[in-house]
Amino acid sequence: MNAVVLSLDAELAWGYHDLEEIPEHVESARTSWSRLVALFDEFNVPATWAVVGHLFLESCDGTHANHPGPRDDWFDRDPGGVGKQHPLWFNDGLIDAIVDADANHELGCHTFSHVEFGDEQTDREVAVAEARAGLEVADDAGYTLQSFVFPRNNIGHRDVLAAYGFTCYRGERPELWYDGSRFDSLGKFIDLTVSKTNPSLVEPELDEYGLVNIPASMFLFGYEGRARTITERLWDDPLTRSAKRGIDRAADADEGVFHLWMHPNNFTEERDFERLRTILEHLAERRDEARIQVRTMGDIASEIRGTDPATKRTPIGPR
Ligand SMILES: [Zn+2]
Ligand SMILES: [Zn+2]
Repeated sequence: MNAVVLSLDAELAWGYHDLEEIPEHVESARTSWSRLVALFDEFNVPATWAVVGHLFLESCDGTHANHPGPRDDWFDRDPGGVGKQHPLWFNDGLIDAIVDADANHELGCHTFSHVEFGDEQTDREVAVAEARAGLEVADDAGYTLQSFVFPRNNIGHRDVLAAYGFTCYRGERPELWYDGSRFDSLGKFIDLTVSKTNPSLVEPELDEYGLVNIPASMFLFGYEGRARTITERLWDDPLTRSAKRGIDRAADADEGVFHLWMHPNNFTEERDFERLRTILEHLAERRDEARIQVRTMGDIASEIRGTDPATKRTPIGPR
């Protein structure tokens, strides 16, 4: 399979509620979300939007007393109420924007309240509650979800996902030579600017639970701050260049997927949107030349599970 997959972790304030401070730039998260929907439409490129379950709610009591969290204070920041009052805690129209878009996006799950499944404080009971509530609130809103993205890519309790009928998740990016070394940031710098290593293509595959692991190839905002400004001045934006190379590599390879991911929350400046626009333009070109397909995580999972006899399900009821 030659394909490009784009996935977004859509969370508004929920991405930060367990941290010491909620960063100020989250105030622009709704605008960024809407602008991204428009940008994907401009190039008719679909993506998988893994949405924090709580955002599907129209209102809540702010306590979620019957929902176990990884800590007692887990819902302390939840203001409760309705979307109009607290638009960073509820979707208030943003999910409709994804569904009503021209591009055929997929809605996926990013847990109910942004719990790290791989954290040792997250026991099975919490994972079950998060997976179940994530599906239920979407179902109440009329959506069936099959793709899962782990908050902070912290992978755990995959058996729970399989039990609840998820078909796939975004797995870890393959290791690069500088990972874990004390040269991590210098390594990244050299890698992106000098050595021009291509970002990894990945091979989605079934894991031991029957879930399709679709590993990430690249995070679109892996390289920020002052270093970005300096390299942008000297060369072009290294991450734009890197993503374009990933797309070309997927187009030229015998087989392989280029999986690029991001958060709407990452888009805080004009140059962030410009970065994605340049990449989508390039991707649309390759797609229109029929060199590459753009697929959602769910498409990839269906394709892989469809060819594996162990995961074939007998349809229930009349057709
Ligand atoms: Zn709530
Ligand atoms: Zn997240």
